[in-house]
Amino acid sequence: MAIYECPGCHYRYDEELGDEHEGYPPSTLFENLPDDFICPDCGVRYKEDFERVSDS
Ligand SMILES: [Zn+2]
Repeated sequence: MAIYECPGCHYRYDEELGDEHEGYPPSTLFENLPDDFICPDCGVRYKEDFERVSDS
């Protein structure tokens, strides 16, 4: 599992936790998020912009 961070607003997507508010259950891998995934916090950064910040 890894954590990915938005370079714009520093929202973090943690694969272990998912983001249930956005409809992604725990253990959803970042690579399995839809290709049109947009940062739920700032809304201007796409999946390809996110940076992998840690492995856990
Ligand atoms: Zn963002």
